[in-house]
Amino acid sequence: MIVNIHKILYHTTAEGFGHRACIWLQGCSRHCKGCMARDTWNPEDGCQMDTESILQRIFLEAQIRGLEGVTFLGGEPFEQPKPLSEMICRIKKEGLSVIVFTGYTFEQLQQTEDEAVLACLSQIDLLIDGAYIEELREFERPWVGSSNQRYLFLTDRYSENDIQKERNRMEIRISKDGKITVNGMADFQKIFHI
Ligand code: SF4
Repeated sequence: MIVNIHKILYHTTAEGFGHRACIWLQGCSRHCKGCMARDTWNPEDGCQMDTESILQRIFLEAQIRGLEGVTFLGGEPFEQPKPLSEMICRIKKEGLSVIVFTGYTFEQLQQTEDEAVLACLSQIDLLIDGAYIEELREFERPWVGSSNQRYLFLTDRYSENDIQKERNRMEIRISKDGKITVNGMADFQKIFHI
C-alpha cells in the first residue's frame, strides 16, 4: 500500500519510550496556529513510499538495534488511515509498541465510521491527542507541545508511571552534505531564535 511520507528515522531515542523508529506522515489540514511543522501540511509534498518496504526496514532495525517500537507523527497521521492501520497492525504483530500523535481528540476519532481509524484505535498503545494550542504551549511534560494534549493509554503496555520517568530530548543530525536536521521536543524558538 502506498503512503505519503514526510520523513522517517529508523532509530531515535527522542520520540517516545526507548529506542524507536519514527514516521512522519505528510499532510495535515488542521493548520494549528504556531505549528512548527508547516512543511508537513501540503499533501502534494512528501515522498510516496510502499508500506511493505518501510515495514521490512523497521523489522530489520528492530533485530539489529532492539527497537522498542514505532512512533507515528505528522502532519496528521489519521489523514491516511488505511496505510496507517496496515502498518500499525503489522508492527503490533511483531511485538513492537505503537505511539501515535494526533491533532484530533480521541472522542472525535471514536465517532468516525472509518474502519481503518477504528482498527488503529484498537491497536495503539499510547495515543497523544489534541490540537496544538499556541497559548497553552508547554515543555514540562515529555513530547507534548501544549497543555491540553493528553496521554491516553489504550492498552496496558504503558502507564502514567512510565511517563513520569521520561523527559524531553532533542537530537541534532548533520548529514555528509552538511544538512542539519533536528527532532525531539524542546523550546526550539528559544534555542534557535526563530
Ligand atoms: S495537527 Fe500537528 S502538524 Fe497539523 S497543524 Fe496541528 S501541530 Fe501542525
